[in-house]
Amino acid sequence: MSHDHDHAQGHDHHHDHDTTFQPDISEPEKEWELTEIAIRELLIEKGVITAREVSDMVEAWERKGPEDGARVVARAWVDPAFKARLLDDGNAAVAEMGCVFEGTKLVVIENSDDVHHMVVCTLCSCYPRPLLGIPPLWYKSREYRSRAVREPRAVLHEFGTEISQDREVRVLDSTADCRYLILPRRPAGTDNMSEAELAELVTRDSMIGTAEARMPTGDRAPS
Ligand code: FE
Repeated sequence: MSHDHDHAQGHDHHHDHDTTFQPDISEPEKEWELTEIAIRELLIEKGVITAREVSDMVEAWERKGPEDGARVVARAWVDPAFKARLLDDGNAAVAEMGCVFEGTKLVVIENSDDVHHMVVCTLCSCYPRPLLGIPPLWYKSREYRSRAVREPRAVLHEFGTEISQDREVRVLDSTADCRYLILPRRPAGTDNMSEAELAELVTRDSMIGTAEARMPTGDRAPS
């Protein structure tokens, strides 16, 4: 404790060792927020974890982007056997690529020429974080959560995503123990691209289903 205190002196940041991060956000009011603080403070007080470890973990999550998800999609595009395993058992397949996805079931759903899928969590903000990072604010908004189900095509339109009328739009509602990842369609004109190049076309939104995968640079042909 004293070491940490000395280290913190002279800086104008938050000094309270027992409340570790984000002093600028609003006061906790929800029961789960108070529970989190109580458990965290107790774990730190008992020496199970340190405040620094908590902050480092928060930072690591905030840095994490959708790259792992993009790698998984690109692999599925080039490797049909991997794709079959991914659709069969998402958790096991992504583990092959070094992605730890534990605690909830990962269900990967493939978009096709007939069906376009998009994901929402109508209750809260369930999201495949180990593959995509922290969800964007809009994903957690009440507006997206209600409108995605009621008028998915209108929501997609606002994302600049037009799904032709001959394709069905299906909305997948996450549950507490299941996370969805969309496997977008591989764009046309990408036959000669490497797996790493393909991963660059896989955006976060294309794995939520609010967009399609990016077309290769210079190729603006409609899909
Ligand atoms: Fe949720």
